[in-house]
Amino acid sequence: MLDKQLLMIPGPTPVPARVLHAMAKHPIGHRSKAYGKIQEEITANLNWLHQTQHNVQALTVSGTGAMEAGIINFLSAGDRVLVGCNGKFGDRWGDIAEKYGLQVERINAEWGKPLDVAEFQSKLEADKEKEIKAVIVTHSETSTGVLNDLEGINKAVKAHGEALIIVDAVTSLGAMSVPVDEWGLDVVASGAQKGYMIPPGLGFVAVGEKAWKAYETATLPKYYLDLGLHRKATAKNSTAFTPPINLVFGLQEALRMMKEEGLENIFTRHNRLKKASRAGVKALGLSLFGADEVASPAVTAVMPTDVEAEKIRSTMQQKFDISLAGGQNHLKGKIFRIGHLGFVCERDTLTVMAALEATLQELGQNNFTPGAGVAAANQVFAG
Ligand SMILES: *Cc1c(COP(=O)(O)O)cnc(C)c1O
Repeated sequence: MLDKQLLMIPGPTPVPARVLHAMAKHPIGHRSKAYGKIQEEITANLNWLHQTQHNVQALTVSGTGAMEAGIINFLSAGDRVLVGCNGKFGDRWGDIAEKYGLQVERINAEWGKPLDVAEFQSKLEADKEKEIKAVIVTHSETSTGVLNDLEGINKAVKAHGEALIIVDAVTSLGAMSVPVDEWGLDVVASGAQKGYMIPPGLGFVAVGEKAWKAYETATLPKYYLDLGLHRKATAKNSTAFTPPINLVFGLQEALRMMKEEGLENIFTRHNRLKKASRAGVKALGLSLFGADEVASPAVTAVMPTDVEAEKIRSTMQQKFDISLAGGQNHLKGKIFRIGHLGFVCERDTLTVMAALEATLQELGQNNFTPGAGVAAANQVFAG
C-alpha cells in the first residue's frame, strides 16, 4: 500500500511527523540571530544527550564523516593506534586510519562475537613506551548486532594513561547510556539517521579535554573536518560552514522530543524493544546471530537456517511494506537484521513479529505455535 512503509532497519530510521513538519519550512540565513538561537538550543540539548559539559560539534556529514573527523583531528602520521574489528564498521575505521598513514594494529574478533577486553589490556600494558596514541572502538557493531564492552575497553585505555579512546557510538548513542564525561570518553561520534530520529546528513562529535589537548599537536591534514574551526564557531552559537538548515530545524524538534521523553525512558524503551525482538524471533523458531549478553539495543541480527534470509526480507517488503536490513560482506544472504532504533515503539515490534510469522508460514515454515512470536514479545512488554 502506498505510504505505509515501516522502516525497521538500523539507519535511516523512521522520522516523527513533528520533525518532518519542523523541516517543511523556508530555510533561514545561518548568520542570522534566529539561527544563533537555534544553534544555542541544539548545542545545549546535544550536550544533554551526550551527558557532557563540553560542546558537541555537529558536522554536515554522515556517521563515517563524523568518525573520520574523530580520527584525523587528534593524531599524526605514523602514530600507533589499536582498532577493534569485529564487523563492517570496525574494519572501516581500520581502513581510514591506514589511509591516513597511521600505524594500525587491528584487534580482531569473529563477526557475531564481541571484542576481547583482555586483548586490549595486554597490548596497552605491554606498551611501556606509551607509543599507542589511540584506541578506536565501535560500541554497537551494527553489521552483526553485537555490543562491545566499551566500559571495559575504556578502563584499559585509562590505565594506559596516554592513549585516547575514539568511539563509534553511531547506533548506541540515543539507544543506551553513553556517559561521555563520567567515563572520560575522549572522542564520541554519531550520526543523524540513527538514534536522532532525523533524516541522514548530520554527524556529531563529542570531544573531551584530553582530546582537545592532543588536537594542538596533531598534524594530519584537515580542513572541512577541522574540529577546531567548528569548536570556535559553536562557542559563538554559529557554524563554520553553511549547515543543512532544514535538517537542523528537524534536529531541534527531535531533541525536544527526546527531552520530553527523558533519557532513562529512551534507554528503557530500547532495552524492551531489544528483548521483545529477541524473544519473538526465538519463539518463531529462528536463530539469533550473537548472544543475548552482547546484544545491541539498536538492532537484532537473525540467522535463519531453514528459510533463506533474503526470501524473508523480500516477502516482508512485498506483502507488508516492512523493510528489514540484510547481511553485509560475508554475511550477505546469511542473516537479516531488524532495526529498533530511534522513533520505534512497542507497536512496531508487535507488527514485525506478526508479519514475520505470516511470512514464515508463506515460505512453508511452520515449526512454531501460531501467535508465538507476538505472544513472546508481548510477554516482555507486559513484564
Ligand atoms: C550507520 C553506521 C555508521 C555510519 O555510516 P554512514 O553511512 O556513514 O552514516 C557508522 N558506524 C555504525 C556502527 C553505524 O551503524
